[in-house]
Amino acid sequence: MITAAALLAERVGDVLALSGFYETEPWGFRSDNTFLNAALQLETALPPLELLAATQAIELEMGRTHKSDGTYHDRIIDIDILLYDDLVMQTSELTIPHPLMLERLFVMEPLSEIAPNVIHPVFGKPVISLMPE
Ligand code: AMP
Repeated sequence: MITAAALLAERVGDVLALSGFYETEPWGFRSDNTFLNAALQLETALPPLELLAATQAIELEMGRTHKSDGTYHDRIIDIDILLYDDLVMQTSELTIPHPLMLERLFVMEPLSEIAPNVIHPVFGKPVISLMPE
């Protein structure tokens, strides 16, 4: 997680905020390992698809070997793009805002720590008001 944050800072842009690290149980499958989740706010000059390419390169370098196949596994690192300013986009490669973020407490908890008042551009409401149960 620290490595990912350092690589993002090096290649993507300035880190404006970093949440605490939240330890969570695996979601969608069973494992003896737990997850560490964190949210990071970056200022970047990269357009969305280049940002995705950069995050995927970091995932690969950090040893995430398998492609997403619709099932969930243990993994070294998973970098998701949650929000990008107030952009709304949907392509086969990239959907922003991240379509599953609102369902996931493990995403919304760290996100609401660093960006509680940021407005979700689809729902028009602040992140803090969109926390799942
Ligand atoms: P995952 O296994 O969750 O990391 O999903 C990876 C795939 O989701 C990649 O191939 C991306 O093209 C796609 N994807 C779509 N929207 C996003 C997003 N907002 N952030 C990261 N990956 C995304």
